[in-house]
Amino acid sequence: MTEQGVGRVLVIGAGLGGLTLAHALVRAGLDVRVYEADDGSGERFQGYRIGLAEPGLTALRASLPQRLYELVEATSGGLTGPGLLFDEQLTVLSRDLEGPVEGSRAVDRQVLRRILLGDLGDRVTHGKRLTGVVERAVGSVTARFADGTEATGAVLVGADGGNSVVRRHLVPEVGLVDADLCGAMGRTTITDRFLRLVPGRGTMVKGPGITLMLGRMQFDREPSAAAAELVPGLEMPHRDSYVRWVLLVPPEHPAATDPGSAGEDARELVLELLEGWHPDLRDLVRSADMSAVGRSKVYDRPTPPWPVGRVTLLGDSAHLTLASGGNGANTAMQDAVRLSARLAEVHRGERDLISALGEYQDDLLERGNAAVQFGKEALKRFVPPRPQETR
Ligand SMILES: Cc1cc2nc3c(=O)[nH]c(=O)nc-3n(C[C@H](O)[C@H](O)[C@H](O)COP(=O)(O)OP(=O)(O)OC[C@H]3O[C@@H](n4cnc5c(N)ncnc54)[C@H](O)[C@@H]3O)c2cc1C
Repeated sequence: MTEQGVGRVLVIGAGLGGLTLAHALVRAGLDVRVYEADDGSGERFQGYRIGLAEPGLTALRASLPQRLYELVEATSGGLTGPGLLFDEQLTVLSRDLEGPVEGSRAVDRQVLRRILLGDLGDRVTHGKRLTGVVERAVGSVTARFADGTEATGAVLVGADGGNSVVRRHLVPEVGLVDADLCGAMGRTTITDRFLRLVPGRGTMVKGPGITLMLGRMQFDREPSAAAAELVPGLEMPHRDSYVRWVLLVPPEHPAATDPGSAGEDARELVLELLEGWHPDLRDLVRSADMSAVGRSKVYDRPTPPWPVGRVTLLGDSAHLTLASGGNGANTAMQDAVRLSARLAEVHRGERDLISALGEYQDDLLERGNAAVQFGKEALKRFVPPRPQETR
């Protein structure tokens, strides 16, 4: 038996993984504080909809207070029905497109983030951008923030995403590179006409040199109404169900060489790329909220082990998977549950901190590096054919 109690756990980043970890630690009776760089409470753009498969859903069920988990379920949407493959004139090429595994649910990222912030109260502080980490010999670790403040705890978890400051502290040699993938995405409120484009688990439209992927976010219950009933007091704006679409162009496409467009510019660029495509697809883009056209990044190599100490990683900070691979959030939430379980063992005095974090790291890197590889393989299904291969 070792001395009981872990001490305060500092989590850097209030994203999907960091917030899941915070809930899991609270449930296990540990003291946790989360520091988030953004000022707001979750409106930062990072894509619209995510697909949660069994690992992610199980992790949330194990971590969240029951009423918050019920709200996740109530505001999620089905991912069932045939996956369709169309050409750009909406001729059906296949009704058997591979899609999310059975039992997966679609969730809106902003809705989920708001739910995850629920009940954590002042355990989460916004406007705290980590700039440095100092590991002290006396058994503590200090986080330094851009506003000149500091926080000290017994363990620090980098849940600060793909560009992680914490990862650079632990393994500076691993950087990010272009994933050779450029795209734009948007969200269009569902109408019967647009719903017909994506009646099932997902739709892919393959045009010459370009792929358009469509996914449905059809809330089982409108989020603000569901929140008012299930978690009164949780702030949740009204949201309409929508079709999320992602346009992928290969790296040598002229549109990929100037990836700086956003908003209206991005819409014009997408409409130019879809010149001559079926009117339903063009109107889907015309009616959309648009985000930027940008490039995806991946790590330049698998994350290697780091000397086990009081600082560790979780989620994209350790294994940035491609969005199209669709498993980054699921993996980050799994990390959260596993890390929380190891820290709870230490807290109960069943083992020492360093062996617990060592076991967590082995598991994290094995699953995480596998998830990155899986994402790269999955990409091959989505990347448009090179110009010489087009029909
Ligand atoms: C378009 C898109 C679609 C996706 N679709 C899916 C999907 O369908 N299924 C799936 O499983 N995954 C999907 N993913 C991946 C998934 O979103 C990520 O893997 C997941 O969000 C990782 O969680 P995280 O907590 O590690 O990082 P994040 O959720 O990115 O959170 C990191 C947090 O750290 C904060 N932060 C960053 N730097 C600092 C700093 N210096 N100091 C303090 N805070 C900081 C950030 O502001 C952010 O809030 C998708 C990703 C994208 C971009």
